[in-house]
Amino acid sequence: MCSPQEFNMNTAGTRMVTRSWSRGPGVGPRGSGEEAAPLPRGKSAAEGRKSHHPVKRQRKAQRLKVAYEASGGEKGEGIKVPSWEPQDWQQQLANIRTMRSEKDAPVDQLGAEHCYDPSVPPKVRRYQVLLSLMLSSQTKDQVTAGAMQRLRARGLTVDDILKTDDSTLGTLIYPVGFWRSKVKYIKQTSAILQQKYGGDIPASVAELVALPGVGPKMAHLAMAVAWGTVSGIAVDTHVHRIANRLRWTRKVTKSPEQTRAALEDWLPRDLWHEVNGLLVGFGQQICLPVRPRCQTCLNQTLCPSAQGL
Ligand code: SF4
Repeated sequence: MCSPQEFNMNTAGTRMVTRSWSRGPGVGPRGSGEEAAPLPRGKSAAEGRKSHHPVKRQRKAQRLKVAYEASGGEKGEGIKVPSWEPQDWQQQLANIRTMRSEKDAPVDQLGAEHCYDPSVPPKVRRYQVLLSLMLSSQTKDQVTAGAMQRLRARGLTVDDILKTDDSTLGTLIYPVGFWRSKVKYIKQTSAILQQKYGGDIPASVAELVALPGVGPKMAHLAMAVAWGTVSGIAVDTHVHRIANRLRWTRKVTKSPEQTRAALEDWLPRDLWHEVNGLLVGFGQQICLPVRPRCQTCLNQTLCPSAQGL
């Protein structure tokens, strides 16, 4: 399993986008192999939302600031004021923060983004982040963490993986979900990273999703964890399910990608990274896929789905 000191790059390292789209700590300019200076600590989103009612004005101000700051970024959008937002979402989010305050869900300690080796050079760390994300789809965090530990024990760089035969790689990552396909994708992606990116990973969502076996959720998490850039909301099955149960999407959405677009339409950008970790852990512990624990959920009276489950 991952050691506690390894858990720091993600939460401390991710910052909302700044004018220069700064890198997070533990990562350097692409291809430089150098550490970037840690970004100054800002006030957290949670700190900024203790009171619920001057919020309309607060949120407008935040949105303006973030939209301006993001003008040279991944999406390049201008100032955007949503035409719709879900009723009670701020109270529901505050309740989820309270329920998640112990940070004791599997994702908090074993999530794929926590399983890189902090002692290796930045570009190798970034590769390990991407690899752990590739392993994590359809796989429990504990299983991903175990596979990453076995891979790291042998050395986990692009070159190491390309030198490993498929059968050995399969043995090392088993029993992650779809391990046979993942062997193929990891090899193909590693070859591209070696040829095209000098063993590093690309620093844009478009280039990341072009890699075999890398989907939008992985790409947005890789941008946040490996590059310190919040490029979009990473929506997995938990985020997709809970967003629909809470009616955080204007209409019912059929896929995580639809959910991502629906959430990005109204959710303030400074919450995009936080909401992934909050909802994934909430989905692991309380808002379970089957038989959610509505009796113990602080959102029971605010949740449109509580009665029907
Ligand atoms: S009340 Fe039930 S369905 Fe609604 S958010 Fe809570 S656990 Fe999930």
